[in-house]
Amino acid sequence: MTAIEPPRAAGVPIVNTERPIPLGAPAPRRTRQGVVAWGDHRVTVGGNAPIRVQSMTNTDTADVIATAIQVKELAQAGSELVRITVNNDEAARAVPHIREQLDRMGVSVPLIGDFHFNGHRLLAEYPAMAQALSKYRINPGNVGRGEKKDRQFAQMVEAALRWGRPIRIGVNWGSLDPELLGQMMDDNARRPQPWDARQVMYEALITSALASAERAIEIGMAPENIVLSCKVSNAQDLIAVYQELARRCDYPLHLGLTEAGMGTKGTVASAAALAVLLQQGIGDTIRVSLTPQPGEPRTQEVVVALEILQALGLRAFVPSVTACPGCGRTTSTVFQELAKQIDDHLRAAMPIWRSRYPGVENLRVAVMGCIVNGPGESKHADIGISLPGTGEAPAAPVYVDGQKVATLRGERIAEEFRQIVEDYVARRFGSGAG
Ligand code: SF4
Repeated sequence: MTAIEPPRAAGVPIVNTERPIPLGAPAPRRTRQGVVAWGDHRVTVGGNAPIRVQSMTNTDTADVIATAIQVKELAQAGSELVRITVNNDEAARAVPHIREQLDRMGVSVPLIGDFHFNGHRLLAEYPAMAQALSKYRINPGNVGRGEKKDRQFAQMVEAALRWGRPIRIGVNWGSLDPELLGQMMDDNARRPQPWDARQVMYEALITSALASAERAIEIGMAPENIVLSCKVSNAQDLIAVYQELARRCDYPLHLGLTEAGMGTKGTVASAAALAVLLQQGIGDTIRVSLTPQPGEPRTQEVVVALEILQALGLRAFVPSVTACPGCGRTTSTVFQELAKQIDDHLRAAMPIWRSRYPGVENLRVAVMGCIVNGPGESKHADIGISLPGTGEAPAAPVYVDGQKVATLRGERIAEEFRQIVEDYVARRFGSGAG
């Protein structure tokens, strides 16, 4: 058995005075930039644009009202692009009415049409649908078989060119082009040292995406109007595939762990996979493909996507509340309740605060359980409160911009702290803020 190397190489001092440790930051992104637009509402994708959040409806697209309401909810939750399936004639007929309904409600979020099998026909037969969509998702594994495949793919790209729409070439390992995969598996079997079947699958996913993009360019599509995705449902596979895809092209990339699953599992799996790639500068738009738990709103997938970007410091959407996990020093639930109340209050206030207090999404609030880390963490936040732990004096010091400004006591600590937060927000982010 090989001896495990000590973590510190010989000669490396444990105290470094030579150079500062590099600041934590994601690697730069190097993709082209495209635009997905509806009217005057333009959403840049790729290049130096913010990493965009996407989502997808799960209503029957043919149900105009239900779909329009869900699109509105997803957009209000923070989804900057919303995808709807266009799976049959009824759905295709409904799309322009969904768009009209959204426009009437003042919701200008661009709609993306998700096409499989019959997209070439629907785009040709329903021009109002083609025009109401701002981008088309084409799955090269589901455009047709045999000699129909190239023709039908070309028809979809031509429709996008006719309406001036960008496309996403969205490859998915659950619907990978079987002819391409079969051919690559056969070729692999003839190698003197065959690759692992997963490695052949990686190559097939990337080949399908890049070859389709090249075909679209031959037909006339500008490279910046092509977004690529290669979705798989395992975090390590996703990381391996996207690292290689990013190495081979400069198209904007849409990231997502497909079929991530439900609840905690889906949330954690998506966060783990996406965080690794985003930190490497890979990914221009993201979607978290959560299966909603019974009774859970569809908007949960948007909430998780926003939290991933915010946790990595890539974007800020809502003020962040730092709360300690609690331990044996906090035998009451006071601090948990206060942390939740403050978090709920900040989120509920955001629809109004966003326009009234520009920049408020960067606010950092700390709610801590005792004196061990409470004062220190509170001083690092913009506003922090350190609640008394078990056995401590019943007083809660409050810190604003690192300075202790008050000590709260008694039954009304929550209300008084909330008022301090409100006053701070108005003072720092209001129109008169200097
Ligand atoms: S701050 Fe205090 S209550 Fe919170 S986890 Fe640390 S020691 Fe426990």
